[in-house]
Amino acid sequence: MHLGDSLTDHFRLADTHKAALAKLGIKTVRDLLYHFPARYEAAGSEAQIAGVVSGQEITLVGTLEKLEAKKGWKSRIPMTEGYLVDASGKIKLRWFNQPYIAKMYANGTLVRASGKITGSEGKLYMANPQLQKVSATEVGLFTSQKSPEKKVLGSPVSAKPQEAGRPDHFFQDFSAPSPSDFFAVYPESRGVSSLWFRSAVKKILEQKIEAEDPIPASMLKKYNLPTLRTALVWVHTPHNLKDAEAARKRFAFEEVFMIQLERGRERAEQAREKSYSINAPRQDIDAFMREFPFESTTAQKRAIDAILKDMYSGRPMSRLLEGDVGSGKTAVAATAAFAAVRTRPEGQTFGTLQVAYMAPTEILAKQHFLSFIKYFEHFPINIGLITGSGCYKFPSKVKRGAATAISRTQLLKWVAGGEIPVVIGTHALIQKSVQFKHLALVIIDEQHRFGTNQRKKLARKEVRLPHLLSMTATPIPRTLALTVYGDLDLTLLDEMPPGRKPIITELVKPNERAKAYALMHEQLAAGRQAYVICPRIDEPDPDKAFALMAKSVKEEAKRLKKEIFPDYSIEILHSKMKPAEKDAVMQKFAAHEIDILVATSVVEVGVNVPNATMIFIEGAERFGLAQLHQLRGRVVRSNHQAYCFVCPESRGETTLARLKSLITAKNGFELAEQDLLQRGPGQLAGGKQWGISDVGMEALKNLKLVEAARAEATALIAKDSTLKTNPLLAQTLAERAGTMHFE
Ligand code: ADP
Ligand code: MG
Repeated sequence: MHLGDSLTDHFRLADTHKAALAKLGIKTVRDLLYHFPARYEAAGSEAQIAGVVSGQEITLVGTLEKLEAKKGWKSRIPMTEGYLVDASGKIKLRWFNQPYIAKMYANGTLVRASGKITGSEGKLYMANPQLQKVSATEVGLFTSQKSPEKKVLGSPVSAKPQEAGRPDHFFQDFSAPSPSDFFAVYPESRGVSSLWFRSAVKKILEQKIEAEDPIPASMLKKYNLPTLRTALVWVHTPHNLKDAEAARKRFAFEEVFMIQLERGRERAEQAREKSYSINAPRQDIDAFMREFPFESTTAQKRAIDAILKDMYSGRPMSRLLEGDVGSGKTAVAATAAFAAVRTRPEGQTFGTLQVAYMAPTEILAKQHFLSFIKYFEHFPINIGLITGSGCYKFPSKVKRGAATAISRTQLLKWVAGGEIPVVIGTHALIQKSVQFKHLALVIIDEQHRFGTNQRKKLARKEVRLPHLLSMTATPIPRTLALTVYGDLDLTLLDEMPPGRKPIITELVKPNERAKAYALMHEQLAAGRQAYVICPRIDEPDPDKAFALMAKSVKEEAKRLKKEIFPDYSIEILHSKMKPAEKDAVMQKFAAHEIDILVATSVVEVGVNVPNATMIFIEGAERFGLAQLHQLRGRVVRSNHQAYCFVCPESRGETTLARLKSLITAKNGFELAEQDLLQRGPGQLAGGKQWGISDVGMEALKNLKLVEAARAEATALIAKDSTLKTNPLLAQTLAERAGTMHFE
């Protein structure tokens, strides 16, 4: 059996299993073995119902009793209720919006129920538990393993010496599997349960597998990491938690190492490419900056220096500019663009190099277009705007100082001919039909990754790779930045323009909204606008245990209109709306046809409505601090005093303490680090979007590990950038590229 084999070569899979596995992205033996447990539970110490406490995520074994479909007493929500009973007692089970559960299980069925204990003392219940039928013998198997030391979950018992006899011939000889002391609980999907994973993985581990370790042995030794074989056994069937942890650490290292190798290779590839040598005279650039209606901050000047140095070198720049909302990234981008368009194509005495500026949304593209027109007021050039819904050019032939709508064909012709040096747009910019004559600089705003391939695609027929300036306000911790942006040089804009009134942030206790509303009334009357952010779109969310408590955009908008702000126009915005609808609402908000915008966190991405000076965030504890900080960033752009009201649902001390750091922290990056430490990597807004697995995300708490993996990868690439001498690594990378998409 090879790791690369398709699962169907070795398993007979039912269609439901196939579908479920496909959903989890599991196709090969490797995929299955790299589908790591989400957690472990001590065998034989399955929790007893009598001992549960509120807030616990737990798995209980017992029999079902008194299952029935009913309607919520007040809410009238359809649900199933029943009890789980074991020798120690019973607990209520409750499924919201799933009345059919009652029909799916017979009373008396023995099940393993996993879920969160909710409610208050005396009224505890398990909310929306996942059920798994178990056979009595299976339970017997687990409970017979009882031994006192194994109960100490979380505090690893003394490890057997690492790499001791067992693992190395494990693959050959597993004829008498000893039951693991801990059993693995896997991330599940409808159709494949943890039980299924456990038995499938066991079957594989019992066989002979051809699996060479992609991590060089010397490296494993240096960092005291288990071999691939050992780690696979330890991660799925650990004898103790220390083994499981060692295995996870190894896989985390492996993943970060692989990502770093990819990035390193990308970087090496870029370094071999030629790019445009920008040669705009420095005094012209200084003159351009002097025309700004403000004095640049030291951080802005530093960033511009770094960018110019890159672009003057003739080697392609790959730089990430990270700065909080409002730190003035656009001015930096405009200066970089100026340097490019102030440079003539090689051997030409006319024409200029070109710049493409890509924004994530149409609204933002339009905003950048208008900003650029202003920044280039004293150095008038043609600026184009390409979006899905139309094209514009500045200046207009008939009306100088204004932009006009033009046909796409006409715009594309001018871009291809080099007559329009700066083109701003959405993703529409990377369509094939957009051809540049001399594309020297690509600026991208808030897109997570933009690799060499996309750069090449934009450059089309050109032999030179355009310079890349990537900009983001998304605060992420250093370890994550090092990992996902390993191929970019980093510049921080860690200074805010002076003279801005600091935003007033207040914690509002759930039943003390009145004072905040009074202030909002005052500000609305003075002509300002407000955002109200809710965690959810609809009422209620069947998948969430706390569904009934979380405020929803739709309900809250109705409530505010009816009870609090009847005289103001209120509209909603959320992610399930069509892009055109969202755009229309945002336009109306920007034009002050809407006073209060009740929204989910979709407004997070940098939309600029200077007159919106208030943001009220409901259910604040559901957001990460970094995300709250970004939401708050929606209102820092104005000269008016801005307010941010942070209102959690719970009044818990820890919640309030955590939210207080929004008032004390200096910037978003500090908050992102706090999120990582306090809430764990899972809260860093979805590993998926960064192309990192859960185990990889765990590594981000460990700066040393990330730095080690990076140093090793960099050293390897420096010696052998194409990995000629290490075909196994090269192949592993190629396989990864096939399954993971970073761009
Ligand atoms: P972001 O970094 O969020 O993209 P912007 O570039 O949109 O920030 O800048 C936010 C606002 O700050 C703009 O109105 C811009 O004109 C202004 N600004 C930028 N740099 C400075 C500065 N050095 N001094 C004063 N205002 C500035
Ligand atoms: Mg911006």
